[in-house]
This record gives sequence, structure tokens and C-alpha cells, in this order.
Amino acid sequence: MKVLVVGAGTMGHGIAEVCALAGNEVILCDINENILKNALSRIEWSVRKLEQKGRIKGADDVLKRLKTTTDLVEAAKEADFVIEAVVEKTEVKHEVFKTLDENCRDDVILATNTSTIPITDIAMATKRKDKVVGLHFFNPPTLIRLVEIIRGRDTSDETVRKTVEFAKSIGMDYVLVERDVPGFLINRINIRVFVEAIRLLEEGFKPEQIDAAVKYRAGLPMGLFEVVDFSGVDTVYNVLNEVRKRGFEVEVPGLLERMVLEGRLGMKTGKGFYEYS
Ligand code: NAD
Repeated sequence: MKVLVVGAGTMGHGIAEVCALAGNEVILCDINENILKNALSRIEWSVRKLEQKGRIKGADDVLKRLKTTTDLVEAAKEADFVIEAVVEKTEVKHEVFKTLDENCRDDVILATNTSTIPITDIAMATKRKDKVVGLHFFNPPTLIRLVEIIRGRDTSDETVRKTVEFAKSIGMDYVLVERDVPGFLINRINIRVFVEAIRLLEEGFKPEQIDAAVKYRAGLPMGLFEVVDFSGVDTVYNVLNEVRKRGFEVEVPGLLERMVLEGRLGMKTGKGFYEYS
């Protein structure tokens, strides 16, 4: 299968890697050549590391299956399945989906990795609303082998079924989200848990104490503050604001806003809830 991944940033490059590791041909498309170059070298580093650790064989073959482009129109003509992972802006998603709809074969499913925009809204930009579906990965997709498959108002049963098959074919476990609600399912829970963890912080606990408790006693794979530093404090702040705007009742902690203003964005700036050198 030829998978087109649109957007080669934080999520797009990881999604492309997962798809190529599973044996698919992958076209990774972005508007920015530098981001594409960066994405390829991150994927190469990761695939070679997997080979060194004996987790995969044939890193060269995996890398040969990946190509990059800035030409969405031409890439769309070749695709059998599309995963969109461009910036979280409705107008950009609409433009990308319109181009995809006009240039992909009629039978091709257009999946979006959006965290906060309703699938139903994204599908509006196309004439194939029945073939638009949410396929929401978690960061980093190479490690967190779970996706949410979200049904928009017009997504057909066949599209959901084929997307489930696709998710399984790339080695992902899945949660079916039958309602196109703000924040979908997993982030809704994560947000509540994380906001409560911030309350504990404000009551005098330390990030290390809370993370150790949830990791070593409650069995979560990563600490809550570790996840947020890894994903980006700004990313989480934006997700909270967006789902709130869309009707999910949540208080956006003032601490997060202060951290964003101070540039304490997590691992990418060397400082978040923890410090990195
Ligand atoms: P990012 O900013 O790292 O990457 C977005 C990429 O889209 C950039 O490389 C940008 O150049 C590219 N882009 C912008 N306009 C484009 C266009 N017209 N055509 C092709 N490429 C274009 O963002 P990200 O964090 O990877 O998020 C991407 C999507 O994934 C968003 O919808 C976000 O909500 C979702 N998501 C993010 C996370 C996360 O933890 N970061 C987790 C799950 C889902």
C-alpha cells in the first residue's frame, strides 16, 4: 500500500516511520524542505537504532520505502491511504483536504490526526465526507502503539472498518470513538488527570513525587509532567484552550500560561516542569 502522510513535523515523521516499518511505501509531504530533511534524518536515526538493538531487520529497505515531496497534488494522485498531520489550524486543514479530495482516487480514505478539530468540520472541505475519519496517534507513535479511530457525523461504516484494518496492519492497537466530541476520548481523560496533577503541584507537591506515584505505583507508562514536557507545554496549553472553546468544561491552569509566556515549553527549550541539559 502507498501511504501519503501530509505534514512532517512532530507527529508526521513518527507516523511515516510507523507506516514504513510495517512494509508500506510512504510519501511524506510538507511545505517546508528543511522540515522534510529533518524528518528523514530523525527517521533514519530511529530506524538504524531499532536495527542495532535487533528489534528490526533491513533498515536500508525501510528507508528505501520512504520518499519526500513538497508537491501535494502529485503525491495525492499516487496515494492509497492518506494521513494528514499538518498544523492544528482549521483553515490549513480545509485547504489540504480540498486538494486531497480533488486529486486522490475516489476510493481513497482521508484520515486526520487532529487533536481538537471536529472530524465532521474537516470533512466539510471535501465531497467524500463518508471517507473522512479521525486517526489520532499519540506522541511518539513509534512507542505508543495506540490510535483513536474517530467517526465524524458522515463517516461510513466501511471507512471505519477499513481504517481499523489499516491501523492493525501498521501494528497499532485502537480505540473506536463513535462520537465526534471535543477532545475525543483519551485526551478528555488525560486532561482531567493532568489538571488535577497541577492542582497537587499548587498544593505543594513536587513533579517528581506525582510522576513517581503515577509511574511506579499507579502503573502509567510515563509521568504526567514528563509527558507534557515531551509533547510541549505550548501544545498541551493549546489543546486545553481549543477543547474548552469547543464546549469541554475545563479550567486552563494559570501556571501553564505563565510557562508558555516564559518560554518554558519542555524538552524542546531545555526547561519545562523539569530541566534538561
Ligand atoms: P508540527 O507543527 O510539529 O508539524 C506540522 C507540520 O505541518 C509542519 O512541518 C508544517 O510545515 C506542516 N504544514 C503546514 N501547512 C502545511 C500544508 N499546507 N501542507 C503540508 N504540510 C504543512 O505539528 P504536530 O505537533 O506534528 O501536529 C500535527 C497534527 O497532529 C495536529 O493536528 C495536532 O493536533 C496533531 N497531534 C499532535 C500531537 C502532539 O503531541 N504534538 C499528538 C497527537 C496529535
